[in-house]
Amino acid sequence: MSGTGTQAFWIDATRGIQEHYGEQLRKWRHAFAAAEGEPAAEGVTLDPPHFALAAWEVATRPVADTSYVRRHPRVLDATCHRPEEAPGLLAVVELAVPAPVRLPEGWAGWQRQDGDGGGGTYAAPPYERPTALTTLELRLPLVADLPTPTRARAAGLPNLDDAQAALEALVSALNAVVTPFLRELDDAPGDAPGDAPGDAPGDADGDAGPLAQWLRTQIEADKAIAETAGGGAWRYVPAGEGNRLEFGRGRAVTAIGFHHDDLLHPVEAIHVALHDPADVVARCEAELALLAGHGRDCPECAGGRPCATVRRLASGYRLRPGWREEWALPTALPTALPPALPTGRPTGRPTGGVRA
Ligand SMILES: [Zn+2]
Repeated sequence: MSGTGTQAFWIDATRGIQEHYGEQLRKWRHAFAAAEGEPAAEGVTLDPPHFALAAWEVATRPVADTSYVRRHPRVLDATCHRPEEAPGLLAVVELAVPAPVRLPEGWAGWQRQDGDGGGGTYAAPPYERPTALTTLELRLPLVADLPTPTRARAAGLPNLDDAQAALEALVSALNAVVTPFLRELDDAPGDAPGDAPGDAPGDADGDAGPLAQWLRTQIEADKAIAETAGGGAWRYVPAGEGNRLEFGRGRAVTAIGFHHDDLLHPVEAIHVALHDPADVVARCEAELALLAGHGRDCPECAGGRPCATVRRLASGYRLRPGWREEWALPTALPTALPPALPTGRPTGRPTGGVRA
């Protein structure tokens, strides 16, 4: 049962779940016992806040298996209370949110675990990691119209239809307030709370901030150029067979040899053929797939800081404009260039945003 979009809560209409809720009402009937001074039928309270509170308790209590009211993965807890000093109910909803500060390297944040039926939860990573978990507690006074229960099903037993109506009212009231928070969180730069202020936000795929975003731009640009160049396989034909670089479709470079600087040296032609568009597209796709597995699905990246894997991958692009030295791993590959090579890219290669 999914199809809930970004809703904080929904009633699980799966077959059998409502029957289970009916059984739970029977089991927890004492929660509906009328208090002194409350309107009652057969000992069951007809006081809207009391009844709704009890209906919610029963619907959300068996969180382990079949909770009648399901919730968005970010909703860690949702309880209803009845403060003595207030007329209605107070709902307290706890959300798993990104850390408000940049976590130190190696720290983990919330880990999303997908559940069956499109559910899932945000859970703490294994204990062996230093972990910072941030929750946002929303306190919502619910003075909204709660339905008035009509009657008891039997002596001391709440009516399932009344309980259903109370749940629908609560779900609707809570969604109106909580869902905008969830949308905001889901639209935020992944779970990239560690983005420094002023950093451009990432996209909704979830990433680990500006490094991952920059890296993806580099890879996508390379792929776009390779595709624009035909995406094909190029082949170096050695000297004994004609000494040329074939581009397919009858085109070839034949100016290959060792004459001064006006010929493409054979090893250069071999190098070009090795990094032909077909090869580049394949490699870019592999790297993009690797990158997609990080962001919010990687405990470390989800903590707001790109993990070592992403940073190592990015270090392969460290000669590109836009690379920041702070992204390098302390033990990363040497960033200094061999003295014989010029710094920067002399080829005038576009550095981002290029699309086929
Ligand atoms: Zn990662």
